[in-house]
Amino acid sequence: MLGPLLGWALRFVDEFAPDIMAADSHWRGTRTDTFRQPADGADIGLRIRNLMNEYITAGRPLPGYRGRPNVVYLARTLHCDRTSVDRHADVLAAAAEVVGIGTDSYFDIPINGRLDGAPWVEGIATHHTATHSLAVLGRHLQAACYIVIAFLSGMRDSEVKHLRRGCVKIKRDKDGNPYRWTVTSLAFKGEDDDAGVEATWVVGEPVARAIAVLEDLQPPESDYLFARLRHGSGAKKGSAEALTTKATSTQINKFIAYVNKLCKATDRSDTIPTTGHSRTGFKTSVFRRTLAWFIARRPGGAIAGALQYRHHSIQMFEGYAGTSSSGFRAEVEAEQAIARGETYIAMIDAHEHTDLTGPSSEEVARRLKDFGDRTQFQGQLALDRHRLKRIMKRHDPAVYPGEYITCVHDPAKALCERAQRGGSEGLPEHGGCKPLACRNVALTPQNVAAWTRELTRLEKRLASRPEMPPLLQHRLRQRHTEISDFLTANTPTGAPA
Ligand code: SF4
Repeated sequence: MLGPLLGWALRFVDEFAPDIMAADSHWRGTRTDTFRQPADGADIGLRIRNLMNEYITAGRPLPGYRGRPNVVYLARTLHCDRTSVDRHADVLAAAAEVVGIGTDSYFDIPINGRLDGAPWVEGIATHHTATHSLAVLGRHLQAACYIVIAFLSGMRDSEVKHLRRGCVKIKRDKDGNPYRWTVTSLAFKGEDDDAGVEATWVVGEPVARAIAVLEDLQPPESDYLFARLRHGSGAKKGSAEALTTKATSTQINKFIAYVNKLCKATDRSDTIPTTGHSRTGFKTSVFRRTLAWFIARRPGGAIAGALQYRHHSIQMFEGYAGTSSSGFRAEVEAEQAIARGETYIAMIDAHEHTDLTGPSSEEVARRLKDFGDRTQFQGQLALDRHRLKRIMKRHDPAVYPGEYITCVHDPAKALCERAQRGGSEGLPEHGGCKPLACRNVALTPQNVAAWTRELTRLEKRLASRPEMPPLLQHRLRQRHTEISDFLTANTPTGAPA
């Protein structure tokens, strides 16, 4: 569900925002203009007739409001007061006879955003009650920005809501190309932390783009980026406070409903599923939890088409290393523990935990049997997330399945550089792993298959022509021998021929 949600949010931020901002700029202009009765009454009659001729020549229906010509809109177009236009109702009626009256009145701007090659909306309506009005679309755009920021940063709702104008810093290389974006806000340790501390998050470019849109969407005097918008009657003028969590949840629910209506009207299949929501609809906390889930499981794939998730996860993790007060790193590590717990349960279920070979094969079987006993509940292995989280916290078997080895971690025997204990779990730093020598190693059949593929790859390189330099050949042969010896010693059938 979050894939399409993020995809549509990015579409609003990158493709539809310029149209909404153009309408917003018109709207701001009319708010500062004053419309008075023109000094020359005859002149306004001529201007109204000319304007009506323009509508008739273009074959455009007159701007409408509740089935009648929108006099306020026409008065603003002519820069006069509405009474002056009302006096020429007969001219309007005659023009309406020819071209008709539109359902809504639209800002006089071209719609450049495209959906399947066509404008994404017919126009942006001036009256706030219309489905495609500036007031409605402005709030959808604010919701879209929230989704992009919350989902791609892992910030809590309170942390997002404390974003202020000028919170993004961009670092550039010597050619002026941007390569790093950081966002400063307040970090909150938990839902009960009222004060917060200033913190900086490393984010991806889409987050910086969403923040730039919000800076335009808010009036210059508004500091908080998630302050209530001023368009339409729902705005509490003068309120500079950021929206509440509930208000944002409501905005997101409305955004989803709008997108799904748009999909239906344009016959598109990329609707946003609404299943899996709570009874009250979408909850903002789902972004942070889902992000932790994705990082823990490292899908390595792409979401929303162009976004390389892994790239994002690295950037965000880097960011959170500097903002431990936000607690996101601990959250990701807890999620990683749950992911491992699920892997153990699958292994035990398939009786694979006794199939491992290598120096720690007996130890892994013992630890996973113990884990299996603890997770038994009424004769079933526990799959309940909360129960699993509790068991992993108290009785983590510290078995780390990997592509080449399964590390059965015992600090006394660990050859790797020890863990950088940044989080609550103190995971071993597998970057310095010495798999061919460490006594903490166990091998699953998949690990053995990975080593076998490595041997084949080395053999291909050694057989390639032209021949490699002697030193490189020597190194590759040495590596081949080490892996072969390792497999001979640690698998029942020995190294493959
Ligand atoms: S060297 Fe590798 S196998 Fe040994 S403890 Fe470290 S990570 Fe685990």
